[in-house]
Amino acid sequence: MFSYPDSVNALHQGMQGIAHDGAPAKLITLQNAAGMTATFMDLGATWLSCTLPLAEGAREVLLGVDTLDSFYQQTGYLGVTVGRFANRIKNAEFSLQNKRYSITKNQGEHCLHGGVEGFNRRRWQVKESSAQHVVFALCSPHGDQGFPGQLDVTVRYELTQANGVEISYHGVCDQDCPVSLTNHAYFNLQGDAGQMDCRDHELWLDADSYLPIDTSGLPISGCVPVDDTGFDFRQKKSFRKDFLQDQQQQDVGGYDHAYLLNPSREADDVVSRISLPDQSVVMAVKTSMPAAQLYTGNFLQACPKRSGGHYSNYAGVAFETQYLPDSPNHPEWTFSDSLLKAYQEYQHYTVYEFVWDELNAQ
Ligand code: BGC
Repeated sequence: MFSYPDSVNALHQGMQGIAHDGAPAKLITLQNAAGMTATFMDLGATWLSCTLPLAEGAREVLLGVDTLDSFYQQTGYLGVTVGRFANRIKNAEFSLQNKRYSITKNQGEHCLHGGVEGFNRRRWQVKESSAQHVVFALCSPHGDQGFPGQLDVTVRYELTQANGVEISYHGVCDQDCPVSLTNHAYFNLQGDAGQMDCRDHELWLDADSYLPIDTSGLPISGCVPVDDTGFDFRQKKSFRKDFLQDQQQQDVGGYDHAYLLNPSREADDVVSRISLPDQSVVMAVKTSMPAAQLYTGNFLQACPKRSGGHYSNYAGVAFETQYLPDSPNHPEWTFSDSLLKAYQEYQHYTVYEFVWDELNAQ
């Protein structure tokens, strides 16, 4: 058993105080045999911190905040659980069985990341925890943000001995409702306090197509092939290599697009790998979700960060596994069917697994 890195102890200190509902936040730190740590908070069922035990000391690879005030101020969704529906729903409405549902608008006329009071702003219950895992539970009542049915969800985080943070989502709703839960963690494998921004990271991504969007981030068509565009990461390359090369990127200041992940991959196959240029730290992602939003932090400026101050744009990259944005308005996207039927079980998982240069490790 290792002691926690100073930064993790400081985080527990810094997050003290009274939250919006009059109670303090609960923080839970998990640590594995290698000395890696992952810290979670009941507010927003948030992944607050992730440290790797490198020879130089503990490296924080997650963007995040270290005070309650900055948690409430940040609008970048740093590490939070997003629900009921990650990404955008056009005009904040959708139809089910000929009934129109209006949900709350928080991006102009549209709904982003579950609406005005999304799951990221809620107090979750700590249902169980051990040295290796924690389960958060939330009851979202019928009509929450305009969504139909009472949805009971859990998010289970486990820190594995293989240096993975495994996130499992379960849920049941008593009416049909679109559901797409994700975690909005941003990563910087050189360290949150380092000089390198995420554009110098490399990505390999098992995706043949992506979803073109308008300047509000809403789909303008179905998925299109990545061939001959800057969106092709089927051969590993840095984000910087083709950064802002396409009009699609220029419209939103970088990558902020959903990819359709290889649908014929096996359940346990790695679907993407993000790495430092010297490969000294690599993060591999596995998921049951059909799609993922790749977001290079194009609007992170003005987002509060640890130790005061603000992040710069591109300080970290998010890889948010999810159903395609606006799926509830695209029943023709049968490969991204986000409709959770009444009393059926919502069940998805995503694992972020870290490998670091053993020579460099403790
Ligand atoms: C969206 C971005 C947005 C960010 C923070 C991402 O999932 O695609 O456009 O700025 O979340 O809300």
